[in-house]
Amino acid sequence: MSHCLRFSGMCMVRDSEGPERVFETYKLLQKKERRDEMTAKLIKGTEIREEILGEIENEVKKIKEEHGVVPGLVTILVGENPASISYVTLKVKTANRLGFKEIQDNQPEDISEEALLALIDKYNKDDSIHGILVQLPLPKQIDEKKVLNAIDPDKDVDGFHPVNVGRLMIGGAEVKFPPCTPAGIQEMIVRAGVETKGAEVVVVGRSNIVGKPISNMMLQKGPGANSTVTIVHTGTKDLAFHCQRADILIVAAGVPGLVKPEWIKPGACVIDVGVNRVGEKISEKTGKKIAILKGDVDFDAAKEIAGWITPVPGGVGPMTITMLMKNTLKSLKFRLGIA
Ligand code: NAP
Repeated sequence: MSHCLRFSGMCMVRDSEGPERVFETYKLLQKKERRDEMTAKLIKGTEIREEILGEIENEVKKIKEEHGVVPGLVTILVGENPASISYVTLKVKTANRLGFKEIQDNQPEDISEEALLALIDKYNKDDSIHGILVQLPLPKQIDEKKVLNAIDPDKDVDGFHPVNVGRLMIGGAEVKFPPCTPAGIQEMIVRAGVETKGAEVVVVGRSNIVGKPISNMMLQKGPGANSTVTIVHTGTKDLAFHCQRADILIVAAGVPGLVKPEWIKPGACVIDVGVNRVGEKISEKTGKKIAILKGDVDFDAAKEIAGWITPVPGGVGPMTITMLMKNTLKSLKFRLGIA
């Protein structure tokens, strides 16, 4: 028989057969009890998307009635990359559904850099266009950076122009267009009712499109943020140690199943940004081949420990285009002085 003395989350176990040993048994039992009683709340991007698109649709109608204008979005697609075509098609469909003026400007694969820059200049000067989007990747003869930097920062609804990156860094009222995926992540956390003020936020990944901007957004002083942020990456010594401290764990590494269940603090909010193609299957709906997608978190095990979790697919994914629409509407509101 052994008996247990509990103190500060630890348990001392006296074993009659051996020397006194210290186990983290209590901690483990606590974890197990939580596991038995708890399954994480799912934060569904598909549902939040519908909520936000409904809000945008209502605002578009109101602005049209009061000011006689609608948000204008141009999507420039160069070449015929199938993935780009499907992204652009979805963007156009969503913009049309919301009552935007939508222009899909398709350009040939061999367009020159000069011609593409001239096209951007044309839309920069067009008052009926509030958002300009150039679908990436671009063909080899074109310098992507040069093209993206040619977009008027006040129409850069993707939020990648250095001016908008700087505005995001400054924070507060300076921010015009937060980049879409990070903006979607923050929106999901807020709408799920997760407390961010004072929360330990750990972000796995430091890319310019997800890791860095979401870290920056979560540390700003203001609602939906005000967190203590740690960024981890391939140079980090002990990934598990940092993840285990996280009240909010945001994972954007692009490595399927990187985050193990034991890295998750019980009750934490886990946002899985990763979209990894791990195989193919036949769709029950269409009978066509589709990709099997997996996130960066071991979802099945993690959902038994986390307090909130996003699925893949159907989590962060649907939020990106939604936030693009929100930024385009915002751009019009800035123009009208009603933002
Ligand atoms: P990325 O540019 O490849 O950056 C990945 C980041 O993760 C890098 O900073 C990298 O560290 C870090 N990382 C990779 N493996 C790691 C490991 N084993 N341990 C620690 N850190 C590691 O990727 P990204 O563009 O940010 O995208 C990340 C994932 O999110 C991808 O799966 C992507 O498909 C997905 N994504 C989804 C959406 C959406 O749903 N709408 C949008 C964007 C991205 P280093 O800097 O040290 O190399």
